[in-house]
Amino acid sequence: MPALIDLHSHSTVSDGLLAPEALVAHAAAQGVKVLALTDHDDTAGLAVAAKVAAEHDMQFINGVEISVTWRRRTIHVVGLRVDPDYEPLRAGLEKIRAGRHLRAVGMAASLSKFGIEGSLEGAYAHAQQGIISRAHFARYLMDKGYASNIKSIFKRYLVKGKPGYFEHEWASLEDVIGWIKGSGGEAVLAHPGRYDFGRSNMLLLLEEFRNLGGAAIEVVTGSHTVDQYQEYAKLAAMFGLKSSLGSDYHGASHAYIEMGRLPELPRGCVPLWQDWPETLGLNAQATALAS
Ligand code: AMP
Ligand code: MN
Ligand code: MN
Ligand code: MN
Repeated sequence: MPALIDLHSHSTVSDGLLAPEALVAHAAAQGVKVLALTDHDDTAGLAVAAKVAAEHDMQFINGVEISVTWRRRTIHVVGLRVDPDYEPLRAGLEKIRAGRHLRAVGMAASLSKFGIEGSLEGAYAHAQQGIISRAHFARYLMDKGYASNIKSIFKRYLVKGKPGYFEHEWASLEDVIGWIKGSGGEAVLAHPGRYDFGRSNMLLLLEEFRNLGGAAIEVVTGSHTVDQYQEYAKLAAMFGLKSSLGSDYHGASHAYIEMGRLPELPRGCVPLWQDWPETLGLNAQATALAS
């Protein structure tokens, strides 16, 4: 039976393809009962999403996915049950968004050296209402025919060592966990299987994340393989961390997996949401399956 909860998703406020209203309606149609909207570095979609979720009889969780630089590498930390009005969080995200604009200018200048013009305007044309991200550059480059799918665009143009890559320093892990916890939320290490910096760094990261007050890691996420579900379930247990679950849905043509299709957490995982009031109706099923 698929999981009824989805704690990681994106709307047009960041790099998703559906507006917050449409994203929530889509989640409801896919059978999701508890949804977190977790746009990159921006909480502007939460209020309207919460309103639409209530109309669909869904439980809604305020979320955000924050960009972090840890030991010169980019990682993502999802904050769940955050208060978007908490000043340090609000101000921290505002600063990250200003940094995103400067990075975009740098990316465009770098692409222009390789003969690709107009990418700043082109990317912003795809950024409908909130942050600017590499995903918007990818969509512009696809429009221009540089590759036929988003994966090869990233591989050829937007990752380290490629023409559109521009080094950028995001927020620190300590600050980000501090903002999330200070706002009353819980910090989740997003999609650990996507960080290809080796096992010893992963162990260091998990230790530091836990010591700073991180609550959980994403064990089941759209970009993990079935083997990775087991691998990260073990690591969560090893570090005394809870487990989270989310599709990381960005829309049909930019999706790892459709919403409402993820499996439950593997046996033995402690669900991050086990004591949340929003998941009361769900707990019996979700935790029974996970234990
Ligand atoms: P940014 O935060 O601006 O660096 O953009 C990162 C976003 O780009 C991620 O959240 C994904 O949505 C998207 N992305 C990164 N790598 C890939 C990839 N290989 N294929 C498709 N989308 C990607
Ligand atoms: Mn994204
Ligand atoms: Mn991410
Ligand atoms: Mn994401």
